[in-house]
Parts: sequence; C-alpha cells; structure tokens
Amino acid sequence: MIYKRSSELFASAQKVIPGGVNSPVRAFKAVGGDPIFIKRAEGAYLYDEDGNKLIDYINSWGPLILGHAHKPVIDAVIDIAKKGTSFGTPTEIETKIAELAVKMVPNIDKIRMVNSGTEATMSAVRLARGFTGKEKIIKFAGCYHGHSDSFLIQAGSGAITFGTPNSPGVTQGTAKDTLLAKYNDLENVKSLIEVNKDEIACIIIEPVPGNMGCIPPDNGFLEGLRELCDDHSILLIFDEVMSGFRLAPGGVQERMGVNADIACFGKVIGGGLPVGAFAARNEIMDYLAPVGPVYQAGTLSGNPLAMAAGLAMLTELDNNRSVFKSIDKKTAYLHEGIEKVLLENNVAHTINRVGSMISIHFGEEPVVDFESAAKSAGNGIFNKFFHGMLENGIYIAPSAFETWFISDALSYEDLDATIETVNKVAKTL
Ligand SMILES: *Cc1c(COP(=O)(O)O)cnc(C)c1O
Repeated sequence: MIYKRSSELFASAQKVIPGGVNSPVRAFKAVGGDPIFIKRAEGAYLYDEDGNKLIDYINSWGPLILGHAHKPVIDAVIDIAKKGTSFGTPTEIETKIAELAVKMVPNIDKIRMVNSGTEATMSAVRLARGFTGKEKIIKFAGCYHGHSDSFLIQAGSGAITFGTPNSPGVTQGTAKDTLLAKYNDLENVKSLIEVNKDEIACIIIEPVPGNMGCIPPDNGFLEGLRELCDDHSILLIFDEVMSGFRLAPGGVQERMGVNADIACFGKVIGGGLPVGAFAARNEIMDYLAPVGPVYQAGTLSGNPLAMAAGLAMLTELDNNRSVFKSIDKKTAYLHEGIEKVLLENNVAHTINRVGSMISIHFGEEPVVDFESAAKSAGNGIFNKFFHGMLENGIYIAPSAFETWFISDALSYEDLDATIETVNKVAKTL
C-alpha cells in the first residue's frame, strides 16, 4: 500500500502541532514510520488520504463499538446540532442519558457527565478524598487512568509506549500521595494498606486492564480488593472507561459480579463524541457540588451534541443486548484463528482475552501484570507485526501495550481476512 499523502500531511502537521498529533498514541513513534491520515470511515473500515481502505481494529480507541458513522448516532447528532450546540443550562436529554445509564449499570444511583475519561477519574478521586477525608490513593502499575497528575505514576497506554510512565511535571508532593501496587497481587495491596493505615482514600483500578495489553484479573483478585476496601473504609473505584458498556451493559461490575463504590466511564458512553462520566450510590454522589462540598464543574459538560451521541449509542446497546454476545463471539473467533496460525508458524506468543478485549503478546511467558507485559514488548517483534499488518490493510494500535478494539461492524469475512493476514505476516517474524 502507498501512504504518500499521509506522510506529506504529517510533515505539515509536525510544524504546528507537537509531534504532529493531538494525542501521543496516534503517532507511530514506538513502531516507526508516519501515522496514517484518515479522510472518512464507515462501519468496519477506514479510508485514508491516499485512497487505501483499512480494516479498523482501533475504532477511535474504543468508543465506536458499533463501527464508524453508525447511522442512529450520526442522525441524532445532526438533528440536535440544528437546534444549537450548547446552552449552559440544564436540558432534558441529560436526564434521559443519566436514567438509561443508571438502568444499565448495577449499583449506581446518580451519574455526572464530564468531557473525557481523564476528567472522570480525576473527579472520582477528588470525590473519594472528600468523602473519606483521607488523602492517599492506590493505583496499579500499568493501569492508565488518563493524564491527570496523580495517575502518571507507572501509567500504562501511551505513557509506557513512550517510556515515560512517570511524567516530568508531576510534583513530588502529588506523586507521594499515589501508592503503587502490582496488578493481580493482593498481598502487595495488603502490605501497602498496613503501612499507610487510615490514610488511603481509594483504590483505583482498571478492573480488566486494557492499557498494558489486556490482562484478565485472577480469580478472587477483584473480590479480594472489595473486601480490603470494606475492612478499611477505602472506596473502590473501577475505571471502566474502556470496559464500560463493552464487556457487558453494566461493565465489569455486572460481568464479574463485583461492586465498585465509584465507576468511571468514557469512550463508548460518548458514542464518538467527547464524554466521560462518574457514578456512585446517592450517599457518595450527594457529596458533589452543588449538593455537597466537593467541587467539580464543566462549561461544556453534558452539552447536547455529546449527550445526543451518547444517548443514541446507549439506546442502541440497551435495545440490542445481543450485541454484547455478538462481539464476544467475533473476538473469540479471531482469538482461535490467530492462535492457530501463530502456532502453525511457530511464533512464540500469548493471547489474552476477556470478552471483546484482546491483545497478542510476542513472548514465551504468560502476561499477568505490568512487568510481564513490558518484558514481552521488549523484543521488537510487535513492531514488525504491526507494519506487516498495516502493509496489508489491517489497522491495529501502534503499540504493544494496547488491546485491539473490536466493533460489531466487523464481519466474519473481515475476521477471516485478518487471520489470513496474520498467517502471512507470521512467516516474516
Ligand atoms: C482511555 C482511558 C482513559 C482516559 O480517557 P480520555 O478520554 O482519553 O481522557 C482513562 N482510563 C482508561 C481505562 C482508559 O482506557
């Protein structure tokens, strides 16, 4: 495939935008080469500036679970835009999407809308601190919770991809309040709680991490965290920005039957527009302004365009709950097919999957936490794999630390073509 115009556009972009991109993971810095500039997209396919058609396994990094330009979402946005894009007043549609989210997600009474996943997790932690009157938080190495200061300590996603899990610019004062734990290691969490008795406000976790590749929680791990939190008056925050409205209508809380105190959302809940949200039971949510003392706000939070897209998306998912089974089945099919051809070609690998979250790691050993994920990413095989796939029109995330984002728009023909391409590329690894 030829990617000439994309490279020209990238050269222009780099002159006026740092690194030519408005979010680092979009650059191909980790895998080499220039990023692809997209002109339009529909269903499972991207069409780039050079006229190439690509099968998309990124789907805007997760939001487009029903594929690109999904008609009910696009129609809803167009209709509402004609009536004005923002009023800075309450609107009925905000209540409608809140009612639907509260119906779909277990264990929440109220939800507040923000403009990104970052804002959701940042606000959730402030709320947890205000509610408990404690200051420290526990996060897990390799988990990504957006780019606010408290979370850029051994962060996943782009932060590890570019080798800056601990970002300059985060003050020591902030960093000292973030305690770092090992994923899937309950004893490690226990000892952190022991040492910092009565100081920990919350444990924040991707209950099924997707930002160091997909890592399934060990049996009993999430349940163990729930118990520790109950025993020590710590709030458990599930960052379901990636897993929410994907692994089940009610996310991991529903799929794995573990309750969080606060759940954070993003990606799918906005249907492709900038939306994040955090939700909890009344007792906690009523601690927020204007009812309670914890301040949190947003000029464009809950704006009609974003709410229309989100409401259309959630309505589609709520009315067609078979979608969740369908994407799980498609991902399992992909899993089996890729496993088979990698084995046939003697490529050492581990495939991790929970429902429609899946990642392929090119190493001998199981990938169960940040350390093992980093080890398998260190051998450079992923970069060759990525470019081989791209050369054949398959667009996966340009990082060994990302899951593939599956959409229900993918047909079994698309999946077969993808498996056949993996077979072809495997011979070159
Ligand atoms: C994407 C993501 C975020 C950040 O969301 P943004 O909308 O990019 O700010 C936070 N947490 C998780 C688990 C994510 O996958």
